[in-house]
Amino acid sequence: MLQFNHYINGTWVIPSQHKYIDVINPATAEKFAEAANGSAQDVDAAVQAAKQAFSSWSQLPTMERCQWLLKIADAIDARLDELALAETTDNGKPLWLSRALDIPRASSNFRFFATAAPHFASESHAMDSNGVNYTLRQSIGVVGCISPWNLPLYLFTWKIAPALAAGNCVVAKPSEVTPYTAHLLTEILDEIQFPAGVLNILHGTGPSCGEAIVTHPEIKAISFTGSTRAGAQIAALAAPQFKKLSLELGGKNATLVFADADLENHLPTIVRSAFANQGQICLCGSRILIERSIYESFKVKFVEAAQRLVPGDPLLESSQQGAVVSEAHFQKILGCIETAKTEGASVLCGGHAVHVPGRCGTGYFVAPTVLEGLGPHCPTNQEEIFGPVVTLQAFDGEEEALALANSTTYGLAASLFTQDLSRAHRLANTLQAGIVWINTWLDRDLRTPFGGVKQSGVGREGGWEAFRFFTEPKNVCIRF
Ligand code: NAD
Repeated sequence: MLQFNHYINGTWVIPSQHKYIDVINPATAEKFAEAANGSAQDVDAAVQAAKQAFSSWSQLPTMERCQWLLKIADAIDARLDELALAETTDNGKPLWLSRALDIPRASSNFRFFATAAPHFASESHAMDSNGVNYTLRQSIGVVGCISPWNLPLYLFTWKIAPALAAGNCVVAKPSEVTPYTAHLLTEILDEIQFPAGVLNILHGTGPSCGEAIVTHPEIKAISFTGSTRAGAQIAALAAPQFKKLSLELGGKNATLVFADADLENHLPTIVRSAFANQGQICLCGSRILIERSIYESFKVKFVEAAQRLVPGDPLLESSQQGAVVSEAHFQKILGCIETAKTEGASVLCGGHAVHVPGRCGTGYFVAPTVLEGLGPHCPTNQEEIFGPVVTLQAFDGEEEALALANSTTYGLAASLFTQDLSRAHRLANTLQAGIVWINTWLDRDLRTPFGGVKQSGVGREGGWEAFRFFTEPKNVCIRF
């Protein structure tokens, strides 16, 4: 049985209260590890280590800091197979997806921010006569990074890498549901002899360990990715201490399909946007809005494609869908499907759990599910399900498409499929979302601002936005 302990000040530490959480492989429902459940005392130990390390880390020449991050990236690449298998064991996603997406993106995160840091510059503002302001962008100190289970190492490193590149020391916590690759990252830190105390990794639940990070008075900024519910709690906890906050939260994203869309090319993208990672990507399009004139023909093709996505053992190359992340989440998704039925939904395909024979016989698999017949304001079309469940709705014209797309409290991403360039630009301008994709989905350029509006979050990460978040601007004004 594997055991994941905290990594504090360059060494593994057992949790002060000796509490552990079971770690389950969702494809088999078997426990394969236990992870520490951190407490306020553990968080304080990590903060003290980070404080101690801050002065030398923040004063290290930028290029030297970057060399350390590049070493982490190289070590991740060298352990691709091991990390991918760990991610799949922990999360249930197909192994080919962990290998192709999650782990390569984790090393890209380190490489991207390492090579960006030397180019990060600050502003200067010349005044009308004999004066100038310049802005110093200083490291903040100790920062907290908290991440979810859907893209475990990918999102964990998306926060840690810019925080470190900007000269901060970090106390980071992965999701207690998927702690495995964060633990392997500690092995990498140890292997390359990364400076002690600069990156401390704690395990534990939100209430026990996460809240202790959020409320620790010496952690000056929190970068959080997770649910809107937890984001609201974190915002309330952090507010009295006036911490810097970056909150990347839930979504209920719309996919707009116009009659002139090039479906021959784009149908696979639309299907992927609905069901990739079992629909457990915050950017997945879970409300598909279709122009009425093509509704029926689109429906037939889309449902056929969804039916071909048969869930199977995540270790098999042929499995296009893996398990959903946990029993609790499995039950939640099935409950949402039942709610949709009571709201009057017709189930066009899926709508049930899937029994995968063999070693995965007791795993948590859900058939890709397509629903129709629901209005825009019912819970199914308003609340995030975060599973392989999508609804189809018809619209007449651009105005109605826009109204439907903007009709939720969320505003993370939207995708639209059309060949009308003017319409694409018009809608991109008026869709209430932090990210709009046109004739594509999940096309990520790490330089771009990433984040949501409305209840999908506050602040932006990615590119210079991440450096701005992880530094404190100070204006210096000189008269001469
Ligand atoms: P979650 O909010 O339950 O947990 C996320 C992380 O926060 C975990 O590490 C958890 O332990 C911690 N946490 C929970 N409550 C906390 C609290 N009160 N204080 C401090 N930490 C706390 O989310 P999840 O179920 O792990 O992930 C799924 C959610 O994440 C979905 O809503 C999804 O849309 C969202 N998500 C958003 C993005 C984005 O970029 N906007 C990306 C991925 C996932």
